[in-house]
Amino acid sequence: MSSDEARRLYQSLILEHGRAPHNYHKLEDATHTLEGNNPLCGDRYVLQLRIQDDHIEDAAFEGHGCAISMASASMMTDLIKSLSCEQAQTLFAQFQRITQGEPVLSESLPEELKAFSGLAEYPARIKCANLIWYTLQATLTKQNEPVSTE
Ligand code: ZN
Repeated sequence: MSSDEARRLYQSLILEHGRAPHNYHKLEDATHTLEGNNPLCGDRYVLQLRIQDDHIEDAAFEGHGCAISMASASMMTDLIKSLSCEQAQTLFAQFQRITQGEPVLSESLPEELKAFSGLAEYPARIKCANLIWYTLQATLTKQNEPVSTE
């Protein structure tokens, strides 16, 4: 696959998740609920998790925002379900590196997250992609204040 083909594939993956996000609903038996805002773009989400014995059993979100923030929330909630809290934090750290255009050990990286690797060229969009991940990180480190990218 050429890099042009890869780029097109990744763009369509983001559009697909942005249009029809996964896990977009209220989580009735959530143990954790936290809000995240990105005032720069107007992205605003509520992330809900069900955590039992340091394992994320379920994850869902609701809210509004651009296609990139929506796609990121959709993919993240897919990926973190069934991870331990520690594994989710490792994934968070990897995602930070991807969006900043830094190299990541690719064998340990979920394929869909590579869709965000082109964002380093668009600094304003990095916050859109990271908003839901910041909200996850704040939840896992037991912060109770709503998250803001500003
Ligand atoms: Zn946005």
